[in-house]
Amino acid sequence: MFTSRSRSHGRAWRLRHVLPAVACVAVPALAWAIVIQVEDPGRAAQASPRDLEAAVPARHFINVASTADHILEERARNRRRDTEVQVRSGDTMMGLLQRAGVGRSEAYRAIEALKKVYSPRDIRPGQAIHLALLHDETGLETDSTARLAEMRLRASVERDVKVARNGDGFVAESVERSLSRGVAGARGEIRSSLYVASEQRNVPVAVILEMIHGFSFAIDFQRDLRRGDRFEVVYEAFREAGGQLAKTGPLLYASLDQQGNSLEMYRYETSDGEVDYFTPKGESVRRLLMRTPVDGARLSSGYGMRKHPILGYSRMHQGIDFAAPRGTPVYAAGNGKVEYAGRNGGYGNYIRIRHNGSFKTAYAHLKGFAKGVHGGARVRQGEVIGYIGTTGSSTGPHLHYEVLKGGGHVNPRSLDLPTGRTLRGKELARFQQVKADIDRLRDGLPETRIAQASCGDGGAKAKAKVC
Ligand SMILES: [Zn+2]
Repeated sequence: MFTSRSRSHGRAWRLRHVLPAVACVAVPALAWAIVIQVEDPGRAAQASPRDLEAAVPARHFINVASTADHILEERARNRRRDTEVQVRSGDTMMGLLQRAGVGRSEAYRAIEALKKVYSPRDIRPGQAIHLALLHDETGLETDSTARLAEMRLRASVERDVKVARNGDGFVAESVERSLSRGVAGARGEIRSSLYVASEQRNVPVAVILEMIHGFSFAIDFQRDLRRGDRFEVVYEAFREAGGQLAKTGPLLYASLDQQGNSLEMYRYETSDGEVDYFTPKGESVRRLLMRTPVDGARLSSGYGMRKHPILGYSRMHQGIDFAAPRGTPVYAAGNGKVEYAGRNGGYGNYIRIRHNGSFKTAYAHLKGFAKGVHGGARVRQGEVIGYIGTTGSSTGPHLHYEVLKGGGHVNPRSLDLPTGRTLRGKELARFQQVKADIDRLRDGLPETRIAQASCGDGGAKAKAKVC
């Protein structure tokens, strides 16, 4: 079986080596072909290959072939049919092309060409594949009902892939899509939950998580978020030429207005390349430790004296418990070095991280550890270190989280943690410039309001719930 490469190589070889040798006899035949095309295109379009064969002596035919191909393709172009095929579950590229009516050897050559720029295994159910098919009735095709003129598909948000017929073979090319970079935003009032409110404005989940992560150093989203709180997010948005949203980028700005307590943060890349969120005054929103090392979890048990759920007697609960489904990712609360990751008696699968000279955090009852998390490994704040489980002395899937300060346990919820980086001098001036740019973008966004979400929980003072 020829690949598209050997095919096109074969054609080039033929042109280079055969054509000069017979050029003298080929000229009249080529001239004839050109004449009928120019003088009577209608007649050329009607000429069958049998007519050409009859008009040109057999020994000349090898050189006329490309001209004849050309005429046939001219004809076939009139019968080109453009269609879009959806990838079905379990589809292969070969199966899909054959279903569209492309013959097996034709499909094979097209797929071989495609492989140079895109792996056909990457097609996904629901993906649209654009095909241009040539239905010719010349009788020359023996192995197919349709010839493929072109195939196009979206390889990624930024890239299209095109396979086009080139004689008997195919050539593939990768086409970068030009997306224009801009911003999108949403403002609204929280009626039931931040998730519901943002969903109604089509704010990507990743953007909302960035906002929660950024503000989670200052407020407790489970305890402190209330009905009537107002929020705003502005994030990068990439649009296609037609204006449709192609993809979204990072959160640039977020605010949370809690009746008297207002929080704002701006994304800023410092001159040493660190990307972080800063308050309008240029203070990093980041603290040494995150308040909650897991997203969307319910605080199921606080810090302090309590009756042990399994052993029955009262004892000190040296951490706090977050209930969440098995497998929920657990984050490193702060930058640091893993002191221990492994089995630890009643703690089950357990990780302890040393953050600095005085602070450590510990995570217990994990289902398992994230890849690369072992004693001595460096971890960054917010990095996934393990997954919620119920190993050791545990009654159900939850994270037992401890903070140790100077060797003793402290309540993770009432920590006064050191603040992060504060921008000064030239760096602060540079930040103020970026902040002014983001504020201008915010002013340009249309005022949008969020309709009331019905989440089933009554009472104006009801706490926000994830629903
Ligand atoms: Zn616990």
